[in-house]
Amino acid sequence: MDLKFTSEENQFRDEVRAFLADKLPLALKNKVASGWPLSKAEMQQWWAIQYKQGWLAPNWPQEYGGPGWGVVKRFIYDNELSLGNAPSNTPFGVTLLGPVLIKYGTEAQKAHWLPRILDGSDWWCQGYSEPGSGSDLASLKTSAVRKVDAHGEHYVVNGQKTWASYAQYANMMFCLVRTSTGAKQQEGISFLLIDMHTPGIEVRPIITLDGSHEVNEVFFSDVRVPVENLVGEEGKGWDCAKYLLTYERTGGARIGLATAELDQLKKLAAERVKGGRPLAEDPLFAARLARVEIDLENLKITNLRVIAAVADGGAPGAESSILKLCGSEIRQEISSLTRRAMGGQARYFIADPTGDEREAAFNATSAAAQYFNKRKLAIYGGSTEIQKNIISKMILGL
Ligand SMILES: Cc1cc2nc3c(=O)[nH]c(=O)nc-3n(C[C@H](O)[C@H](O)[C@H](O)COP(=O)(O)OP(=O)(O)OC[C@H]3O[C@@H](n4cnc5c(N)ncnc54)[C@H](O)[C@@H]3O)c2cc1C
Repeated sequence: MDLKFTSEENQFRDEVRAFLADKLPLALKNKVASGWPLSKAEMQQWWAIQYKQGWLAPNWPQEYGGPGWGVVKRFIYDNELSLGNAPSNTPFGVTLLGPVLIKYGTEAQKAHWLPRILDGSDWWCQGYSEPGSGSDLASLKTSAVRKVDAHGEHYVVNGQKTWASYAQYANMMFCLVRTSTGAKQQEGISFLLIDMHTPGIEVRPIITLDGSHEVNEVFFSDVRVPVENLVGEEGKGWDCAKYLLTYERTGGARIGLATAELDQLKKLAAERVKGGRPLAEDPLFAARLARVEIDLENLKITNLRVIAAVADGGAPGAESSILKLCGSEIRQEISSLTRRAMGGQARYFIADPTGDEREAAFNATSAAAQYFNKRKLAIYGGSTEIQKNIISKMILGL
């Protein structure tokens, strides 16, 4: 197992840096650096730039429009985007739905939906979680009943999804629904593609602690979905759901983002003054800062070990839970220290910053907003407690 990048990989890293220097608009870069949420148009702008470069879908095979990178190049790309203050979110259509369609979709579904994901024609949201079915996802209850009438064959969907990220922007949702009740909870779940403009769908915002609107409740009452929008076999949607998760397993640590956030914190700790001395020299603050930096270095090595194992032909195992768990804790600690470094000023909110206010905006406003926003890291993508359960069973053998 070799944890060092090859000269070809270092060359690729330089290529990504040159791409960012050339193509990442300064206004976007500044906004990301200042920690403010991006608008729909700003996200779409960046995805279009990556699409034009052929780099929007690093996890797709080349024949469907992916760049044909292995796991190491994908890691480097992700890291460099974060370090370069490029927007770090990728459309759910690319990260989650695309691989499922490629594996389970019919030729007609692939031909119709995949190009539309890449060129931005569709914005997909994920309809998995329900009230009472989050960690215990297989208990989901939203029902889909197959019917034939004068309008043809379709499913009639009733129920509620929750926490659907950016559903307010989405025109499509990939959704887990119950088509029958089997002996096991995992049986009888199906994977449907739902047009968000179908009558009977209502999207209601959930405003999070930081005051932002990322997540939504989605209600379905007698929503008709054509049977052609079933992916895979009816009742076998759990296979799609599980397969989808394997695609996120090596990137949970978000090393690039944590490194960029730590760099910003260190700069802040050197600038801020406490008791006539730089905050970085305060023993209590310095001890926490050193601890989180050491934790991040350790996590980087663990992440590289997992990537090297996958590059050698292995599959990401329970180690991915360590990446997710520690990655979340490290980023939460960095945001906690950043908020502390700002003291009372971290509570000062202004409107979406523009122009010269941007740099000041990071320092004076977004530290508190980001601290509150990052509470989510320990919840989504498998909560901290769920990751600890996996680690204790699969790694510690408890
Ligand atoms: C910002 C954000 C964005 C999200 N985006 C989406 C999205 O786009 N689409 C989507 O479908 N979902 C989304 N989610 C939902 C997310 O996947 C769930 O919140 C997550 O799976 C946890 O489920 P829950 O909220 O129902 O909490 P619960 O599962 O009810 O858990 C509540 C608490 O109990 C603990 N717990 C639960 N089970 C166990 C156990 N067996 N052992 C020990 N402790 C346990 C949990 O760790 C947690 O602390 C999002 C969530 C957030 C916060």
